[in-house]
Amino acid sequence: MKSSLFDLDIEDYEIGYPRLDFVDFPSFYGLQKVKAPVYVYRATKEVSPCVVVTACMHGDEINGLRTAQLLMKKKMKLLKGTLIVLPTVNIYGFLNKHRYLPDRKDINRCFPGKNKGNFGSRFADFIFRNVTRYGDVFIDLHSGGAGRFNIPQIRCDLSTPGMHELVENVSIPLVVNSALRDGSLREAISELGKPCIVFEGGEGLRIDETIAKYGLNLINSILSHYGMIKSKKEFIGEKFIIKRRKWTRASRGGLLLNKAKYGKIVKEGEVVGELRQMSGDLITKVRMEHDGVILGMSTSSLVMAGDALYHIGFLDDYNPDDLADDEGELSDYFDFEA
Ligand SMILES: [Zn+2]
Repeated sequence: MKSSLFDLDIEDYEIGYPRLDFVDFPSFYGLQKVKAPVYVYRATKEVSPCVVVTACMHGDEINGLRTAQLLMKKKMKLLKGTLIVLPTVNIYGFLNKHRYLPDRKDINRCFPGKNKGNFGSRFADFIFRNVTRYGDVFIDLHSGGAGRFNIPQIRCDLSTPGMHELVENVSIPLVVNSALRDGSLREAISELGKPCIVFEGGEGLRIDETIAKYGLNLINSILSHYGMIKSKKEFIGEKFIIKRRKWTRASRGGLLLNKAKYGKIVKEGEVVGELRQMSGDLITKVRMEHDGVILGMSTSSLVMAGDALYHIGFLDDYNPDDLADDEGELSDYFDFEA
């Protein structure tokens, strides 16, 4: 019997007509059919350039789904190539408000996967085969987990061929350069010598329209870079490359009162929060251990000793005084049109 599982064949899609289908993903326990959305927009017979957008790799990171919706609903004339969108890759986690797959694997540690491996590995293989069949460029949409907010940033390996040029032309100024070999989609795509950009922004289990628009803007800038859409916007602006990152952790447990703003430039020793007791008495002030920019932070006010509170990107190649305005904000960061 022929498997009904989704198997992307570009010839099934008529040129010039974007289409959203609900297709068969591997079933729950071999019992329950699971359908997930797949969107394909072919502009020309020539498939390339083919941009693939994936979201909800972690099932609770639903802001990527919102970005995908904005993209699919947008009145857009694709001029050439193909746009493929998988808005809920980990449909199982999504349905359960959960980060992981049903076998508790993180799919983003399973790529490229094996068709004879465990469920996580087989499912990663299923996704990987479908997205890499035609894809030339990949955008993977993520957010912080539940209780963690990330400011809009991209993560990529600048040593991948073509990546530098691509990054120069995207709409997001904060670029975290990281080259981990960790089973992520980004690593597996990089192994193919193709560019994969991870977008990080927002918080798990929340939709934030502003952050979703940052994601949409990023995708538009990439489509525009490859001449796939006409855009009036110029996306070339200064990029801040972050090469080192570190979490500031709670030295003690308590109630966290945050005093910092998203995207704030901070100096070593600066107070960004307070930990208070049940009585309200101050336990300790949370001070920055390094100069840098706050890439992400805990949004949970109940913290235990050792909990990650503030994710700092080191601005090694920049002088923080040159970057910050009077308020200590990363200059113009939130100013460009979302
Ligand atoms: Zn994620």
